[in-house]
Amino acid sequence: MSDSIVLVLNCGSSSVKGAVIDSKTGEVLFSCLGEKLNLPDAFITFKYQGEKEVEDLSAHPHHTGAIEAMLHALERHGLDKKIGAVGHRIVHGGEHFKESTIVDEAVIDNIQKCITLAPLHNPAHLLGISAARNVFHHIPHIVVFDTAFHQTMPDYAYTYAVPFELYKETGLRRYGAHGTSVRYVSGEAARMLNRPADKLALVVAHLGNGSSITAVKNGKVQDTSMGLTPLEGLVMGTRCGDIDASVFSFLHEQKGYDIGEITEILNKKSGLLGISGVSNDYRVVEESADTGNRRAALALEVFAYRLAKYIAAMTVATGHLDALVFTGGIGENSKTMRANVLEKLGFLGLVVDDKLNAEMRFGKAGIITASQNPLAMVIPTNEELMIAQDAAKLAGLA
Ligand code: ADP
Repeated sequence: MSDSIVLVLNCGSSSVKGAVIDSKTGEVLFSCLGEKLNLPDAFITFKYQGEKEVEDLSAHPHHTGAIEAMLHALERHGLDKKIGAVGHRIVHGGEHFKESTIVDEAVIDNIQKCITLAPLHNPAHLLGISAARNVFHHIPHIVVFDTAFHQTMPDYAYTYAVPFELYKETGLRRYGAHGTSVRYVSGEAARMLNRPADKLALVVAHLGNGSSITAVKNGKVQDTSMGLTPLEGLVMGTRCGDIDASVFSFLHEQKGYDIGEITEILNKKSGLLGISGVSNDYRVVEESADTGNRRAALALEVFAYRLAKYIAAMTVATGHLDALVFTGGIGENSKTMRANVLEKLGFLGLVVDDKLNAEMRFGKAGIITASQNPLAMVIPTNEELMIAQDAAKLAGLA
């Protein structure tokens, strides 16, 4: 067994994503994606040393079948014995999980208790954990929660202004998401700036299909834009972000929609897709705007305006701003969005450097402002590596 190799798993209801990662170097030694699980045409794709291999899972189209196939592929490549721990990505840890932890029966029980907060994701994660523990029974399993890093938020940031009993009875409060990504890029920001993480005021913009903003002061989250669910906050690919909650009664009265239909509209048909009518994909909306599509241009402007407004708001939570960090597919790549947002935030002292901004794309990390205090930077996120590092540490490998 190697002292640093971890299998990172992300199990959804119909998919299993796996990666074998060297937690010391970040090198991805093997990856795979099982798809269409629980359907007759389930299959899994393996990637090893640049080669792709597809295997039919129709005889065992479930999580255990996919993870067993993964084990056999790892055996073929001589990797199975090198893996010292399995790290599982878990969407919701509620108030119970404030950090990553080794899986035991009590941990399983508590993930189960968080199902009400993530009814689609947590049951799938539990299926994945159970299957993986059966197949990889000889090594420790570690769970890493998207919500955990946000658990340092003060009560005034996570409390919704609704009857307090509802929070006590049901857990209705802000939890946030993207915590693993935010923790990773915050650590990287401190490292790149050569400053101690516990003396930095950061605002982290994770902008992907789902987008969020988090205020991190002295290494601790002070506030974040996603709420009880990932629906709140920024404009996203298909999610509306902040909206008047009266939209439920309004659309019910105007259109006769029920709760399920409105929830679907706000989560799956809104955001960039809803406004532009073109796509949920930022790049596609950008291309459409460039050819003169005014709804696409409006979608981008609503996205940028909301983002700038939120970044400014998050400086209230940090008290001051040392660095604004862009990450996620849009944050890491769209120089036009970043330039637009930084221009809107000029009053904070942020001044874009066009040359640096154009340079920091496609995986390149660095500062993109002429201003140094505050500054803005791009840092590609790496949630899998963070999960691998947590798992290695808790399993005693690191
Ligand atoms: P997820 O939240 O699914 O992990 P990603 O972080 O991969 O998503 O981000 C996906 C988003 O990144 C898409 O909207 C995509 O258009 C956007 N994106 C990727 N590359 C570029 C690019 N070169 N320019 C602008 N947007 C990009």
